[in-house]
Amino acid sequence: MIDLRSDTVTRPTPAMKAAMMAAPLGDDVLGDEPTVQALEAKVAALLGKEAALYVPSGTMANQLAIRSVCEPGDEIIAHRDSHIIHYETGAPAALAGCMVSPLDGPGGLFEAHQVRAAIRHRDQHNPLSRMLLLENTHNKGGGTVWPVAQFEAVAAAGRECGLHVHIDGARLMNACVALGVAPTAFTGHADTVSLCFSKGLGAPVGSALAGSAKLIARARRFRKMFGGAMRQSGLLAAAAIHALDHHVARLADDHANARRLAAIIAATDGLVLEGTPATVPTNMVFFTIDARLGTAQEFCARLAQHGVAAIGMGPGRVRMVTHLDVSGADIDRAADAIRAAAALTARHA
Ligand SMILES: *Cc1c(COP(=O)(O)O)cnc(C)c1O
Repeated sequence: MIDLRSDTVTRPTPAMKAAMMAAPLGDDVLGDEPTVQALEAKVAALLGKEAALYVPSGTMANQLAIRSVCEPGDEIIAHRDSHIIHYETGAPAALAGCMVSPLDGPGGLFEAHQVRAAIRHRDQHNPLSRMLLLENTHNKGGGTVWPVAQFEAVAAAGRECGLHVHIDGARLMNACVALGVAPTAFTGHADTVSLCFSKGLGAPVGSALAGSAKLIARARRFRKMFGGAMRQSGLLAAAAIHALDHHVARLADDHANARRLAAIIAATDGLVLEGTPATVPTNMVFFTIDARLGTAQEFCARLAQHGVAAIGMGPGRVRMVTHLDVSGADIDRAADAIRAAAALTARHA
């Protein structure tokens, strides 16, 4: 099976497993986990922040930022298609008591004037506008990368209005590799950043939240409250260190494979690629299927019979994601499966 459902499906490489087995371990809750501490220092330096915190998931990293910054009743300004709105089980409401003010815009991006317009007047009737959340790359938006200038302008608008700027950077390294910029090109304009090791970076578990020392100390308390404080977690942190050392530059291969996959989809009758193969931003390819090919779920079921796994993301919309465990040869094999899955019902139509 060529698994294009997500870049979360990667298995640790033999070298990553060796690094995990060799890691010195301690007890992170008791404050003496050397490998977790090494990872946190490495992430803080990479993202240009005072401190970082290793956590079990990207959802926890985002929710710790929200819980550490916002009070119940506060409002978070974010794109309507944000991960925190669609895929975090309503956690901003459940864990922090927050509302989200959703903005529209192509590909999960928006403009500075929209942020300014979304800010509430200070009035006893209104929720307090507290946080601006920018997702980069933007998942549901298509693996979109924020252009640095647009990101800067939007983040600056938020900060001028007194908002805390948080980056949902689950795939921030994909954005950085796509543009050839350092993470600080984005993180320098934000207060906190989350980063996933278990997506394109290929680690089995874990994410980080980075920010000021004061904020991370507060988030550390909430990590304990949320049940995310771990013990010999250096075993897992070692995989993340290995991923940062060895799996960042190679994200360019995933992006090239995604563009090849997009070209195959664009050339297949009944499938409509979003954008063009040349403009696929990172490692995600989205397309819609002709109604005659059935629902996205039915199309994915046929694909699976031909050895390719993908997931439906919205009516008639399918997502495919390239990653560490998908080779160029796999893309060639996927092409045959895609044509077969699209041809089958075209004949029946
Ligand atoms: C995957 C993802 C997360 C975190 O997801 P977890 O499954 O909790 O690790 C957060 N934001 C975005 C944009 C993501 O794609």
